[in-house]
Amino acid sequence: MTSFTNKKKTHILVIPYPAQGHMLPLMDLSNQLAIRGVAITILATPKNLPILDPLLSSHPHSIETLLLPFPQHPSVPAGVENMQELPISFLLHILSALAKLHDPILAWFHSHPSPPTAIISDSFLSTWTCPLARRLGIRRLGFAPVHASTLSAWWGEIESNNGDQNIFKGHKDILESHAATKASDGLILNTLEDLDRGSLDHLKATFLGQQPIWAVGPLLPMVGPTKRGGDSSMPEEVVMAWLDSCHMDKSVVYVGFGSQVTLTGIQMEALADALDRSRVRFIWVVKDPMRGVQVASNQGVVPLGFEDRVAGRGLVIRGWAPQVAILGHRAVGSYLSHCGWNSALEGLLAGTLLLAWPMQADHFENAKLLVDKLGVAIRVCEGLDTVPDSVNLAKVLAESISSTRHERAQAMELRKVALDATKPCGSSYVALDELVNDLDDR
Ligand code: UDP
Repeated sequence: MTSFTNKKKTHILVIPYPAQGHMLPLMDLSNQLAIRGVAITILATPKNLPILDPLLSSHPHSIETLLLPFPQHPSVPAGVENMQELPISFLLHILSALAKLHDPILAWFHSHPSPPTAIISDSFLSTWTCPLARRLGIRRLGFAPVHASTLSAWWGEIESNNGDQNIFKGHKDILESHAATKASDGLILNTLEDLDRGSLDHLKATFLGQQPIWAVGPLLPMVGPTKRGGDSSMPEEVVMAWLDSCHMDKSVVYVGFGSQVTLTGIQMEALADALDRSRVRFIWVVKDPMRGVQVASNQGVVPLGFEDRVAGRGLVIRGWAPQVAILGHRAVGSYLSHCGWNSALEGLLAGTLLLAWPMQADHFENAKLLVDKLGVAIRVCEGLDTVPDSVNLAKVLAESISSTRHERAQAMELRKVALDATKPCGSSYVALDELVNDLDDR
């Protein structure tokens, strides 16, 4: 551990929750804060350290790590430190394991020559950092990698009094997490005012009181060869060369369901059949099976013979893919997605047409916003266990790369609005400046 010596810089402690969909946007936020002159210490456990590499190498003088061992927990398989290897039911076990870092952080803080003046941590999944911040006498700002309509819907449900109908009733941890978010000293959202104005106002008026809220999205992924989220399972040059060989712009469908979802055997067959029938060129990312949990033997298994049948037309990547780089390639035209908020924003920013298959967590709210409210995406399926009709899906896949879908034009308009928000004087750019001013003022 080294120490920041430049006393003029505001110093904050960033505590990520180790799931890619939470960690990556928090790294993008840290990048923006470091660009604006904030000194940052990021908490990491050994296996999550490589995810920080791009950030650390971009800001060698203003970002450093606080490396602590991942605490053992009876419900977390030994050696696992990231939700990517676990199903979503393990979220709160990882939270409880990390809460054991309270005392080591306390010791680090008290021995630091210029300790942080605030903690920025995952709004829902690092609730233990609220009492920690209070103990340290510093502020805790929550970061939520979702848009405001999702929060409004969830918080409305949590606080509703509809008895047994309340889906959160009895979920003590979720209620605690909600209370912690409300008790924070500020909330940072990866959304933009133009997309979410009504819900942002509703959040402020209904739930947050005096607590400031900063809409800083879309947080732009760091540029360059970043190895975002870890090494690609297939060398990035091979993937890019394959895309380069696709001569027509916007002719490839990218298929990826984020870092948490593995399809069942029957879903894999239906999707393979749809890709086969559609005749489209595609990249399909198939997530590695989870560790330490029982899964059906054919979960996430690509049907036998499929890759031979589609050779030259389709590329299957097993494991981790350079998603942002793929989406940004001129050859990619549409994205069959689980509708995770990061992936949805990445697809939108890259100018692809989103084909939404919401499955769990915030995906349903994201699809409601993008498909039903804004008309910038097409819903193709819904539900974690649902098996899509391969004939219909094939039709939508083929149509999605033709330029006639009106959703594509709408999506391009929204893309412009989102990019404008990130430029100097844009609402999200200004919100980031205001956040930094607020951190500097304390
Ligand atoms: N991601 C990636 N490669 C993969 C799978 C996911 O780079 O093979 C990244 C993706 O670009 C996004 C994040 O992981 O930034 C996933 O976040 P999202 O909110 O979309 O979904 P989640 O994984 O949380 O369900």
